[in-house]
Amino acid sequence: MQNNQIGGDKIGPRYVIKVYNSKYNVWGFTVIDNTNRGPGKGGIRMTPTVSELEVSRLARAMTIKNALADVPFGGGKSGINFDPKTHSEAEKKEIMEWFARELKPILTEYYIAAPDINVTEKEVAWFVEAVGDRKSATGKPAALGGLPHELGSTGYGVAKATKLALIEAGINIKGATVAVEGFGNVGQFAFKFLAEGGAKVVATSDSKGTIYSAKGLDYNEVLKTKQETGSVVNYQGGEKKPNEAIFELDVDVLIPAALPDVITAKNVKNVKARVIVEGANIPIAPELEAELHQRGVLIVPDVVANAGGVISSYAEHMGWDEKKMFELVKEKISASTLAVLARSKQEKKPPRDVAMAIALERLGTGEN
Ligand code: NAD
Repeated sequence: MQNNQIGGDKIGPRYVIKVYNSKYNVWGFTVIDNTNRGPGKGGIRMTPTVSELEVSRLARAMTIKNALADVPFGGGKSGINFDPKTHSEAEKKEIMEWFARELKPILTEYYIAAPDINVTEKEVAWFVEAVGDRKSATGKPAALGGLPHELGSTGYGVAKATKLALIEAGINIKGATVAVEGFGNVGQFAFKFLAEGGAKVVATSDSKGTIYSAKGLDYNEVLKTKQETGSVVNYQGGEKKPNEAIFELDVDVLIPAALPDVITAKNVKNVKARVIVEGANIPIAPELEAELHQRGVLIVPDVVANAGGVISSYAEHMGWDEKKMFELVKEKISASTLAVLARSKQEKKPPRDVAMAIALERLGTGEN
């Protein structure tokens, strides 16, 4: 791979599409990385800096994630080189509709869209209406058959993966201590579903800091505190700590669910959790995961644990309701977590290596 050039390998890309809008001097890119298992599936981001290379790397990540989640989608991604902050709402709509019409010939056979940076359900609604096909994207408003983010499918899947990892580690969920970094969409719902399952969530955090209580935090009180004061650190009856303190707590389970690269060469030695379930994307570099694995820490990697969102997208694509979506997330996350943990133990390999191997086997491309 050279400079900003896209590299190719046995997995992909299959198609690289570039479209140009002369009125706004805007480029749009769609990379369909791999379609062996179904149409390329992935979001559209709208940023002034998005490049073909960035889109191709994100499309590859989707190929791997969808294969591991075992949904019949390949990997794809789109980017529109446009800054919505410096344009009016009407101009943004015009750009989205233009992009939708340009992609129409490949929708939905080769590509199905979704939200990403600066693209929410509102923009997705413009997209599907311009195409004239609700199946051309997921992440739609409920009125157009969407399954909203607020249902918490990703956090639900993280909680399910955690429950299975606890069984594997021989720890009873009743009273197991958990620290959840981040109280956004993923962290909040992971907290909720684990607390409902009997775990004791002793710490959570947001950009303002960490809140800790050895007795366990009350989910509804934390939610209320966040909604009313803007931060979890104002929770009454807890001890406020710095952000980074959450990674070094003496807990059974650590769930990073906010930022990338939170476990570093500096703090990895102080991690005391026996189980780590990655709600966020890339919270730990692979070499540090390998070090933790050597130390006997059981890790469920991001590509396995946080796939609830892509599984929910499949349920939306099929036109299913909330109940069926949650059942599918439970079934798929359980299957991939158990497969990865069992093979990791058997082959004595870090779970991420095993997850990658399973994804490649499913893609049928052999060693890459
Ligand atoms: P979000 O924007 O809803 O929440 C992010 C949370 O992180 C907020 O509570 C914010 O306060 C907190 N935060 C910011 N800085 C922090 C800091 N220094 N310390 C602790 N917390 C901090 O985002 P989200 O949707 O929950 O996504 C979180 C991560 O999960 C991201 O890595 C995202 O890519 C990944 N992810 C999300 C989904 C999904 O469906 N939402 C799916 C797969 C992966």
